Amino acid sequence: MVPRLYIVIPCYNEQEVLPITAPMFLEKVKALAAAGKVAEDSRVLFVNDGSKDDTWNIIKALSKQDEHYIGICQSRNRGHQAAVLAGLMEAKDVCDITISIDCDGQDDINAMDEMVDAYLDGCEVVYGVRSSRETDTFFKRFTAQSFYKFLAMMGAEVVYNHADYRLISSRVLNEFANFKEVNLFLRGMVPLVGFKSTSVSYSRAERIAGESHYPLKKMIALAVDGITSLSVKPLRLIMGFGIFVAIVSFIGVIWALITALLGHSVSGWASMTCIICFVSGVQLICLGIIGEYIGKIYMESKQRPRYIISERTWEE
Ligand code: UDP
Ligand code: MG
Repeated sequence: MVPRLYIVIPCYNEQEVLPITAPMFLEKVKALAAAGKVAEDSRVLFVNDGSKDDTWNIIKALSKQDEHYIGICQSRNRGHQAAVLAGLMEAKDVCDITISIDCDGQDDINAMDEMVDAYLDGCEVVYGVRSSRETDTFFKRFTAQSFYKFLAMMGAEVVYNHADYRLISSRVLNEFANFKEVNLFLRGMVPLVGFKSTSVSYSRAERIAGESHYPLKKMIALAVDGITSLSVKPLRLIMGFGIFVAIVSFIGVIWALITALLGHSVSGWASMTCIICFVSGVQLICLGIIGEYIGKIYMESKQRPRYIISERTWEE
């Protein structure tokens, strides 16, 4: 049986780029259907993430133009990860495979052919991996690479250079629906579900229009979310560091006692100040990290919905 494909596309303030990229997605779906790889009734599903511009109107207009276009609207902006999740959860019961992709044309849509082929060969998850970052600015490339390295160091396992361009079968999505956490870091969570997976590489182009929504601040926030939702390694590092500082202080105490007993004690104001500043700085950082985890527990314990869909382009 030919699988029914849903392409899930999060959109936030994308009025400049959407009219350009939407026809590209439609063509891809039609081409895949014509090649007999996916069903004719496959869909391009836009998720409007509470955009403040004309994005939702554009999506509604598109859905009237061609039945392959459909859209859902989040009640407010909740971020990229929540938007993708909303689309995937919406799609999982009505399709066989989903492919999530950004709407800015940066990810090469031609990789979808290989993804679908891999699915037809029996893979349930296919990760799109960037083969090069030549088109990114130096700053973006550097921050993105540091991001993956830092995540790996901190014990959060992610597929290197894979963002949120991936194929997931509805079978995996049904299992994934049981991962109830509110702190979303999809690229780290999907590998935890398991099942047979593979990756296809593609070269990443520049954004066709509009601006990136991932400045350094959001990137750091995503890294912190990723680490704290996937791993407790930072807490262990704190413990290790605490033990190290304790041993050093113990040696310091013995040294101070001996110097005092020998009568060589000097007025060590400078060294004292340095030590106090250093240790209190370290303590504050450690408290901050622990606080970050407690914050996560707090958010999880409230069990708020991860997304709220306010509108759909079709009648229910
Ligand atoms: N996006 C979203 N909600 C947000 C921010 C971004 O749905 O709050 C979408 C955006 O429309 C795009 C994708 O997430 O389709 C990736 O964002 P962007 O291209 O700005 O990030 P970059 O590619 O620069 O990392
Ligand atoms: Mg982008």
